[in-house]
Amino acid sequence: MSSTVAATHAVIFGRPGCGKSSLAERLGADYGYSLVRTGELLRAAVRRGDDLGRRVEGLLKSGNLAPDELIFELLDGRLKNHHEEKLLFDGFPRTMGQVPQLKQLENHHHFTIDTYLDVSVSHDAAVARMTGRRICPSCGATYHLLAKPPVSTGICDIDGAKLEQRRDDSPAVIEQRQRVYEQHAGPILAHYQTTYPTLFKIVNGEQSVHDVYLETKQVLGLSFSL
Ligand code: ADP
Repeated sequence: MSSTVAATHAVIFGRPGCGKSSLAERLGADYGYSLVRTGELLRAAVRRGDDLGRRVEGLLKSGNLAPDELIFELLDGRLKNHHEEKLLFDGFPRTMGQVPQLKQLENHHHFTIDTYLDVSVSHDAAVARMTGRRICPSCGATYHLLAKPPVSTGICDIDGAKLEQRRDDSPAVIEQRQRVYEQHAGPILAHYQTTYPTLFKIVNGEQSVHDVYLETKQVLGLSFSL
């Protein structure tokens, strides 16, 4: 048995294309984390075509960020009455304005983040990965043509829906998302690294999918619990 205490409430950071969404999905499936993914919450709102979805549709298509207040509204709704024991945040906080929002959510919804994990990947490696990415429009599961293909080509393993390329995975939008990430990420990572030096961990995201997963499990204290 490991003496490390396993993470129960973690945030995963990383540039678009670093692989954090697939990593989060696998951690969810293997260790029972409930995923809280702002990108997916936003895309679901767009699919529903509700007021909030209509407000963010254009922003998402162009690779720009949704307003902080709206992100808070979505997350506050998502976490209301939640009874999940293990949460994994993917895609939040993404601006310095969202940093205090996380604290507020921790207080309102009674949980404490115990791990801040940065999946580190270069700009070029991330761009190369994003071009092969595919997503299930109905359940949000993510695939990659090379790194994580579905069992049947073009079909979601989970619900059989036809896989799509995300509209924001076009070359120009991919570059814009990288630019937006580079504008915001530095101060956010520096903040958590300075404020919580023992809770802040970096994983090398440029290894094979298998090795990234092994290193992640190790830093989350999960390596011996399966
Ligand atoms: P990626 O990390 O690969 O860009 P996501 O699914 O996390 O993919 O996000 C998709 C899009 O949703 C982002 O480009 C942005 O427009 C929007 N988005 C996601 N999370 C946030 C957030 N916390 N704040 C503002 N916008 C967000």
